Amino acid sequence: MNPVNIPFNRPTRTRRELEHLAAALENGHLSGAGPYTHRCQQWLADTLAVPRVFLTTSATHALEMMALLLEIRHGDEVILPSFAFVSLANAFLLFGARPVLADVHEDTLNLDERCVTELITPRTRAVLALHYAGMPCEMKELTEICQSRRIDLLEDLAHGLLAAYHGRALGTFGRMAALSFHQTKILTCGEGGALLLNDESLADRAAVLLEKGTDRFSFLRGEVDNYTWVDIGSSYTPADLLAAFLWAQLEEAEAIQQRRCRCWEYYDRQFRQAAVEKYGARLPGWPAHCRHSAGVFYLLCPSETCREAVRNYLASRGIQATFHYIPLHLSRMGRRLGYKPGDLPVTEDVAGRILRLPLFDGLTTDEQDRVIHGVMTALARGG
Ligand SMILES: *Cc1c(COP(=O)(O)O)cnc(C)c1O
Repeated sequence: MNPVNIPFNRPTRTRRELEHLAAALENGHLSGAGPYTHRCQQWLADTLAVPRVFLTTSATHALEMMALLLEIRHGDEVILPSFAFVSLANAFLLFGARPVLADVHEDTLNLDERCVTELITPRTRAVLALHYAGMPCEMKELTEICQSRRIDLLEDLAHGLLAAYHGRALGTFGRMAALSFHQTKILTCGEGGALLLNDESLADRAAVLLEKGTDRFSFLRGEVDNYTWVDIGSSYTPADLLAAFLWAQLEEAEAIQQRRCRCWEYYDRQFRQAAVEKYGARLPGWPAHCRHSAGVFYLLCPSETCREAVRNYLASRGIQATFHYIPLHLSRMGRRLGYKPGDLPVTEDVAGRILRLPLFDGLTTDEQDRVIHGVMTALARGG
């Protein structure tokens, strides 16, 4: 193994996490629903213009809360892209729904709305749109499809914080959206997430579900004298300590995002001329009406053989580049659900050719130049 010189990811850090952790220790509220949790929730609600936000222990748990809030049950179907993280499927499968896997657009790697239309049945309860790499899905079309058939539209925003579609923040289109603050994401507290609710009528039940099925939420607000068991539920509330850590990053979110976008655009400029024109690599599609979040930077190599050659060459130079998503329909679980190779051709093609490059806050131009030089050298050798 070669030593890693440039990792794929370094967790985002500001100068103030320890200060806020110390303040949380000092104020003595370490468990969930404390002052930092409220601050983070308010910031997200104000910044994105979402009526209600709940911090959660992960995006996975925010997705599970969606399934609970929709009262998903056995026999229901949820349409989602196969080119996705496992939690999108598992969150609904856990409650007995069938994940119906759809193909993606070749340019953005996002859910192809034409496939969605074909997959809708009387059992379809929701469409879960993943904004891959923080590049917005075609929300106008997806909204129309879902509204005309009275199906709920949900968003996975794990890569998409602060991205926008026609000037409107992602996370505000679906009935609900999930954010992740896992250490590999744009902002982090180690493990964490948030559930965004655009339908306020779901808020009271959400507050109960994440507090173990109790009305502790009303108790904390002084509305009831005692809290008690009122519904099903689980423990989806993060410790206020984690929210304190996260708050340091939310306060600097705009600046972090701008630096990340500069790195993304630097890769884009350098590769667009050389890698694209000379070697037939492809770059992320960027529809004009979209602002992306620079969640991921990737190249689509001309072939899988080429992708592996470039990846191995970079590894030999201590540069970590990775592929993404074994398509859900080709995984062992996907096969158990009845899918087989050839079912979703675009997904299978791009999953074989995608190469994600190091991108994180603090990545230097010198490091980027070394990544770019490594990729170009490997491509010039014919991959
Ligand atoms: C990371 C990720 C998740 C899961 O996030 P957790 O907070 O780790 O549960 C969900 N969806 C996508 C697209 C992701 O990249």
